[in-house]
Amino acid sequence: MTTQHSRRNFLRGQLSRPEAPLMRPPGAQARFSQLCTGCGDCLRACPEAILIRQPGPSGPALPLVDFSKGACTFCGACAEACETGALCPEAVPEWPWTATITDTCLSLGGIACRACEDACEPRAIRFRLMTGGRAAPTLDPEQCTGCGECAFTCPAGAVSFEQRAPATEVVR
Ligand code: SF4
Ligand code: SF4
Ligand code: SF4
Repeated sequence: MTTQHSRRNFLRGQLSRPEAPLMRPPGAQARFSQLCTGCGDCLRACPEAILIRQPGPSGPALPLVDFSKGACTFCGACAEACETGALCPEAVPEWPWTATITDTCLSLGGIACRACEDACEPRAIRFRLMTGGRAAPTLDPEQCTGCGECAFTCPAGAVSFEQRAPATEVVR
C-alpha cells in the first residue's frame, strides 16, 4: 500500500466511522455546529493548510482538521480568523485530542519502522522490543500534545486519535 493510499484510508476511516467524534479546529466551542457558518476563513488562515471542509447531512460544509495534510502547530491563526465565536483563541490550548497507535503498526508486524518516534518532538512515543524482531510502540498520553505529526508521518496509517474529554459533537 502506498503512503498516499494509507493516508487516504486513515482519513476516510476517521471521517466515516459511525458516531466518531469530529476533529474540529483548535478552539472549537461546544456549540460549534450552531455557531459555524462554514465561511472558510479558518481554512484560509491556517499556515499549515491542514483544515478541510466536510459536507454534513444538511447545512454548510464545516471545517475539520486533516492530519493527512500535515500537523498542527497550535498557532491559533484559525481561531483568530473566526468571527462567529465558533472558534475561541483562548480555548486553543485546550485541544482535547491524544494519539493512539493501532494494530496496523508496521513495527508490531516485524517491519523496521520508527517514523512516528522520530517525528514526535515531545518524545511521547517509545518502542519496547519483542520477540521475532518486532517492537511495540508505547505512547505516553501525558506527553502527547495531539499535534498529528506522527499521523502525518506514519506510512501505515496506524495512528488514530481519541478525545481526552467526553465528545461534545459526534457524526450523525
Ligand atoms: S492552530 Fe494554526 S496550524 Fe493548527 S489548525 Fe489552526 S491555524 Fe492551522
Ligand atoms: S472561520 Fe469560524 S465560522 Fe468560518 S468556517 Fe471557520 S470555524 Fe466556521
Ligand atoms: S500527536 Fe504529536 S505529540 Fe502526540 S504522539 Fe503524535 S507526534 Fe507525538
